[in-house]
Amino acid sequence: MLWPRARRRHIDADQAQRLADVRQKNPESETWLALVEAALAETQDAGWDAAVPAPPQGRPARAPLLHGAQVTLESRAVTHFVRRLARLAGLAGAADRLDAITLLEAAVCQQDPRIDRLAAGDPSTLRVVAQVAAVPFLRTCARTIGGEIPANWSEGYCPLCGAWPTLAEYRGLERKRWLRCGRCGIGWEVPWLRCPFCAETSHENLGYLAPEHGETARKVEVCDTCKGYVKAEPTVSQLPWWGVLLDDVATVALDVAALDRGYHRPERPGFGMDVKVVARRRRLWAH
Ligand SMILES: [Zn+2]
Ligand SMILES: [Zn+2]
Repeated sequence: MLWPRARRRHIDADQAQRLADVRQKNPESETWLALVEAALAETQDAGWDAAVPAPPQGRPARAPLLHGAQVTLESRAVTHFVRRLARLAGLAGAADRLDAITLLEAAVCQQDPRIDRLAAGDPSTLRVVAQVAAVPFLRTCARTIGGEIPANWSEGYCPLCGAWPTLAEYRGLERKRWLRCGRCGIGWEVPWLRCPFCAETSHENLGYLAPEHGETARKVEVCDTCKGYVKAEPTVSQLPWWGVLLDDVATVALDVAALDRGYHRPERPGFGMDVKVVARRRRLWAH
């Protein structure tokens, strides 16, 4: 982000291989995948490291690590990245006027109404752009200060960024249940029978949907108390953080199946985050 000259960045070989595989099987998700690819490449830029805040002291016990933080980002680099995402998503004209710093702050805080006000026309595309735009910053935070997350975190939302889990991972031979965040990639272990959204623990109200044909390893966990759902899959070992993003795209059919049966993802964010993002303009000369 802070590099003085534009550099072309590439995703690594594992990411490229998995991305090619998901692309081939999900041609209808090409726009989404193009955004994810751009975010994966951008995340490799060491420039984001300088933006990572110290976790605020004195946070409420249930507040994610970044709650209350102030973040300073280099305006020009962020604007370049965010507008590039907007163009990839087809927002050509509007992209050039987009207030990238405000969009990023609203994205980190998951404030959809604020994102909608920045949109020219239908806001749904800009919401997707915003979600992906937050990935490099949040992933860099997870990589650098993620170790400060309390070991006994038991909420259903991400302990770093406050998002609802993108998927549940049943890891290893023991099939321990880990929730994974599709923004920062963090994982946190949770009990088997517990809804991440409303904390329901009664097995009578918790169930799952499994595809009738084809691959049966993946399923959808559903809760009849709050009608929430989360996609789930078994893994041999921990999915890499970017695997969470790509598996989310690769399993859109499961979302459709859940929505068709009246389940949904909560509209409210997991946690109402308060993060301030301020712009720093690059100095033109040293003094
Ligand atoms: Zn997160
Ligand atoms: Zn529930």
